[in-house]
Amino acid sequence: MKYVSEYRNPTLAQACADAIAQTVTQPWTLMEICGGQTHAIVKYGLNQLLPPEVTLIHGPGCPVCVTPMHLIDRAIALAALPEVIFCSFGDMLRVPGSEKDLFWIKSQGGDVRIVYSPMEAVALARENPDREVVFFAIGFETTAPATAMAVYQAQQENLQNFSLLVSHVLVPPAMEAILSAPDCRVQGFLAAGHVCTVMGYHEYSAIASRYKIPIVVTGFEPVDILQGIYLCIQQLESGRYEVENQYLRSVSYQGNDRAQKLIQDIFEIVPRQWRGIGAIPQSGLALKSKYAAFDAEQKFQNQLDLPTSTPETECISGEIMRGQKKPLDCPAFGIRCTPESPLGAPMVSSEGACAAYYLYQK
Ligand code: SF4
Repeated sequence: MKYVSEYRNPTLAQACADAIAQTVTQPWTLMEICGGQTHAIVKYGLNQLLPPEVTLIHGPGCPVCVTPMHLIDRAIALAALPEVIFCSFGDMLRVPGSEKDLFWIKSQGGDVRIVYSPMEAVALARENPDREVVFFAIGFETTAPATAMAVYQAQQENLQNFSLLVSHVLVPPAMEAILSAPDCRVQGFLAAGHVCTVMGYHEYSAIASRYKIPIVVTGFEPVDILQGIYLCIQQLESGRYEVENQYLRSVSYQGNDRAQKLIQDIFEIVPRQWRGIGAIPQSGLALKSKYAAFDAEQKFQNQLDLPTSTPETECISGEIMRGQKKPLDCPAFGIRCTPESPLGAPMVSSEGACAAYYLYQK
């Protein structure tokens, strides 16, 4: 299988691990940003191939995990409305809100549907003109162009029964928030290859030089990740802090211009709350005012009955996503928190760090 099997070749992976071991002379802590990379690291045991000097910590790159609880509560309130067909990616159904989850609403007769793309939600709106179709638009720069395209298409078709609950977030401001924290442990970043496929990596140069930290754009297969770590360790050992691109087969410096233009046309950059982390300035996308008719929060604002406070939780996902702790440090892991009965999103999301450890390293 071209471009997959080569990057899972055990001999190549071992050669990369050996090169890292021959290069490293002191302890270094690296953060992989993307939950997909976290899953690959734990699934293939890459962390066990590394020399003891290299510590990997897991970043905030799971879109389900960082969706704030107040938006989960809004999703639940919208999904409970009788006129609404609520569309979501499957992982969101089990994420706990302050009192219940979307799956509970579905079990009570709510019309909650799993879709695989926002265009499926547009099609549902077209096919159900007497219902309101709401799509829960989550994710990073990777999924934002598809959401923007759905809005563009709905506008072209004058679909007035389609709207979005928007929770899109941006990676570079989250990296800066992590690096600005006084207890930051991160000394090098593996940047998420798919985000950079859309956005390029020109945004990262300022971060690398401001925080004096190497950033390596990295893919998702075992050899990709080990090469990314090797490039990062080479920089750290030689005192450099640059942006390098390991994921050459997919990522260019400028990224995908048309996708970026689509995002800019439909969305504006706003402050955003991240679940477990808190508010990060200029870290989210919201619909521009000219697309307010597609904003579910505005459209249904008089019908949303929302809890006023966020409950206390023993979930330490914020500390995990800031790189302070790992899933096995959580006292609830595998005891009070399992995929069947999750206390936090990282245990149910397919990109969640706790789910990765539960699946592969329990
Ligand atoms: S194991 Fe569960 S409670 Fe602990 S951090 Fe992960 S999701 Fe949260």
